[in-house]
Amino acid sequence: MKCPFCRSSQTEVYNTRATKFATQIWRRRRCLSCHEGFTTYEAADLGFLQVRAQNASQGPYSRARLYSGIAAAFEPAKADSTIIDAVTDTVESKLLDLKNPIIVSDQIAAIILATLKHFDTSAFLRYLASHADLRSKSELKRQLKNY
Ligand SMILES: [Zn+2]
Repeated sequence: MKCPFCRSSQTEVYNTRATKFATQIWRRRRCLSCHEGFTTYEAADLGFLQVRAQNASQGPYSRARLYSGIAAAFEPAKADSTIIDAVTDTVESKLLDLKNPIIVSDQIAAIILATLKHFDTSAFLRYLASHADLRSKSELKRQLKNY
């Protein structure tokens, strides 16, 4: 791993730990040339996962897209990247638990909602309001009962 500051390849790892939900490995490295420190993350490559949308189009899974969808549910003042990362990690591990290389976008939305409910009620409601098909009050009640 090259140093991002001086591009030297002489770096060493001096601290390693799993992230909160153990989906990533965090490593603290030090450059032996310029002595700057930097962090790396090691995560499983989920590039084999495909997401199928309602219109049957299919594309590769993207953690960045999942993260920004979750981030959008939080009020800007409460959008703490540690919490959004934790929600993203939880959703990602639940997606892997499905043990299916093709995931339907509705399944992802349902998992995000079930996860958000435990983290932040207002983010849960915002996500539900922007993603569920809520044409009537009774439909909203039905959706709320699901979670
Ligand atoms: Zn360096």
